Amino acid sequence: MEVLITADRIHARVEELATEIARTYDGKPVTVVGILTGCLMFTADLIRRINLPLRVAFITASSYRGETLVPGLLEIRDELLPDIAGKHILLLDDILDTGKTLTRVVAHLIDRGAASVKVGVLLRKIGRQEVPFEPDFVGFTIPDKFVVGYGLDFNDEYRHLPFVGVLLGGE
Ligand code: 5GP
Ligand code: MG
Ligand code: MG
Repeated sequence: MEVLITADRIHARVEELATEIARTYDGKPVTVVGILTGCLMFTADLIRRINLPLRVAFITASSYRGETLVPGLLEIRDELLPDIAGKHILLLDDILDTGKTLTRVVAHLIDRGAASVKVGVLLRKIGRQEVPFEPDFVGFTIPDKFVVGYGLDFNDEYRHLPFVGVLLGGE
């Protein structure tokens, strides 16, 4: 494992993002919606530092790229989501890669009646985006490498690591 972003750097940046987010919403209540499971650490660490009236909820978005007959299909499940009609949503995900997941989930939340949707991602991969999408809050931009840790998995492992790293051969 090669450490790409240390736990200390993540915490410092999350602190900055929380300040930026509180300034942006300027006292307005916000509903934070995390995309499970990758959003786990980022959401937990970020919301503890956001000084706003805040609700938190979760949805899942699973893509079946390369796994089934329907390439690019995204299944969004929102049974755990409270009524978001008229609410200002801050959508959080671990990483912006092609941009397809976030594009679809934003449309879904607007469809459910959200008053506004802003997007925060811990990581944004350079050179991978396939659809135009501009997140409002970005922790770090990273090179085009497959990363794990701090919520990000490989076969559901490595999510618990406190840093973001790159798997080397044989791990
Ligand atoms: P997108 O729809 O933007 O292509 O995909 C975003 C999702 O793909 C992320 O929420 C994450 O689940 C997964 N993903 C993309 N790049 C990586 C990566 O480098 N590492 C891991 N663990 N997941 C990734
Ligand atoms: Mg994901
Ligand atoms: Mg994954």
